Amino acid sequence: MSRAHQRSAGGVPDFAVLGGGLCGRLVAWRLAGEGHRVALYERGGPEGGEAAAWVAAAMLAPLAEAAVAELLITELGVASLESWPRILAELPEPVFFQRNGTLVVWHSADRTEAPLFERRVRANAPRSLADANFVALAGAQLDAAEPALAGRFARGWLLAGEGQLDNRQALAALAAGLAARGVETHWHTTVDEANPPSARVTIDCRGLGAKAALPGLRGIRGEVARVHAPGITLTRPVRLLHPRYPLYIAPKENDVFVIGATEIEGEDRSPVSVRSALELLSAAFAVHPAFGEARILELNTQCRPTLPDHRPALIWDSKATLRVNGLYRHGFMIAPEVADEAVRVAQALLDARVTDADSFESLRRASRWGEMLHAQGAHEPA
Ligand SMILES: Cc1cc2nc3c(=O)[nH]c(=O)nc-3n(C[C@H](O)[C@H](O)[C@H](O)COP(=O)(O)OP(=O)(O)OC[C@H]3O[C@@H](n4cnc5c(N)ncnc54)[C@H](O)[C@@H]3O)c2cc1C
Repeated sequence: MSRAHQRSAGGVPDFAVLGGGLCGRLVAWRLAGEGHRVALYERGGPEGGEAAAWVAAAMLAPLAEAAVAELLITELGVASLESWPRILAELPEPVFFQRNGTLVVWHSADRTEAPLFERRVRANAPRSLADANFVALAGAQLDAAEPALAGRFARGWLLAGEGQLDNRQALAALAAGLAARGVETHWHTTVDEANPPSARVTIDCRGLGAKAALPGLRGIRGEVARVHAPGITLTRPVRLLHPRYPLYIAPKENDVFVIGATEIEGEDRSPVSVRSALELLSAAFAVHPAFGEARILELNTQCRPTLPDHRPALIWDSKATLRVNGLYRHGFMIAPEVADEAVRVAQALLDARVTDADSFESLRRASRWGEMLHAQGAHEPA
């Protein structure tokens, strides 16, 4: 066993992970799987109710998201989509995971959105990915792809191979995974700059809670509805092109549908506005009138942790802290690769393979995802 793989007995843990939302759970679980002694601190409980991840739709849609994201995000998403089944297979509890593509449709009044969406996706995604997976459907083809919507839309696209999972099951399974791997979990424990826990290396995954340490970080409010609609059988997430923001309906298990999401600048966590509720629910009703009889389980808001360049970042403070943040609207889609990269950098810090700007730069250059790595000060995303 290398030094990095020996679990430190007694004394301070190898790693303190701050924030046990999506990223913190995944990083802590991976590090514990490598044999390290890990402590995790989360202001909320093991269910994950304080995390942006609790509210997310957890769609894994790198091609659809290419309409609003750049190549780095698409590539992280494509690689992560391959990793999720392996991760979920190792967790002690089942998590709903599906890889049945995304269906994109539009109403005729919004038809000018369609060529714009296609142009953006093709401009941002690797050509081979778009050519292989962007499948135009019309009439009977569309009806056959999603029979519940037969006759409702004239045209659409199937973005083949895209996926989704159940966010809340994933958080629960990761919490069980942390327990199984012996992570010291400190639930209901808020950590701020004045009371850092001791550890040899700290990994800050507090999402928007890391604002004091990352002044450029901001929240982008997202509102979603969860409804129960037995009798509507959608076999994959459906995206509805819309001039204001992309709307989607993600079917989960047990006839639950997540309908989202608004994108509003600001960190307002007040309840969903009437306007947003009307827009989200009418969008669902317009996709399938049977949503009119659905029961509203929840209207909820959360804020996506976002850096100025809308890209994820792993920021080293030049000492013993690595901050992992900026997962914005793509956290589930890119988390496996981001977490793997965080584990790699954190282990290099523990092993003293990274001690100064030069050794950090060497690590950055050797990484497939070097674009995400920044030394604090050098990185103030513009
Ligand atoms: C409406 C909405 C829809 C979304 N849909 C999707 C989607 O379909 N697909 C997708 O890929 N992504 C989606 N996302 C994005 C995704 O949820 C986020 O990118 C992801 O959750 C970010 O992960 P994180 O671990 O960085 O932050 P979080 O999940 O927010 O976790 C941060 C954790 O840190 C804890 N914390 C904060 N401060 C402290 C403190 N001081 N001490 C201790 N703990 C602290 C918090 O309680 C929280 O649990 C969506 C987000 C929203 C809001």
